[in-house]
Amino acid sequence: MEKEIIVASNNEGKIREIQDILNEYKVISMKDLGIDIEIEENGETFEENAFIKARAIAKVTGKLCIADDSGLCMEAFNGFPGIKTARFLGENATQAERNQYIMEKVQGLPKEKRKCKFVCTIAAVIPEQEEKVFRGELEGYITTEIKIDGGFGMDPIFELENGKTLAEIGTKEKDKISHRYKALIQLKEYLEKIM
Ligand code: IMP
Repeated sequence: MEKEIIVASNNEGKIREIQDILNEYKVISMKDLGIDIEIEENGETFEENAFIKARAIAKVTGKLCIADDSGLCMEAFNGFPGIKTARFLGENATQAERNQYIMEKVQGLPKEKRKCKFVCTIAAVIPEQEEKVFRGELEGYITTEIKIDGGFGMDPIFELENGKTLAEIGTKEKDKISHRYKALIQLKEYLEKIM
């Protein structure tokens, strides 16, 4: 029987990537389970926020749950927006507005000053037993122009060393190099030992 894994997220982009990389597992979202709870991400690090989400859903389901907390860190701006990547312009702003804001922040700056990284932390929580967290990072640059509006979140504004954005290379290529892939392969190794 296919092994199931519950993901404490409803972000479709994240869930699709997690399912593609954890392809031996059936990934179940909170929506699939009919769980609709507001989780306050009040941690001070990606790791803390991943644990907050995974623990909350593990408590409700009583089963192993994983959660992804991820974001963009800009080198020239002390890691901004970091853990606030999803909400640094407030709860009502759109992804397009956040992407525009980030691009304007680096406007006119040389490539070196546009350096940034994506961070992904994945927490795994087995209720009353064990908790683990894994981290993956991907280095790149904020792009100066949006060429293709694809992928999810900040994929259209995140440029690799070769000048292509994550939106341009597409999900298949992204899933071989991404911060999420790097965190998930460590999770995969862990799951193989315990499941
Ligand atoms: P959170 O983990 O739900 O707090 O949100 C993370 C935010 O970081 C997302 O809403 C995206 O804007 C951004 N992000 C994280 N990972 C990626 C990615 O792989 N591609 C594009 N944007 C990402």
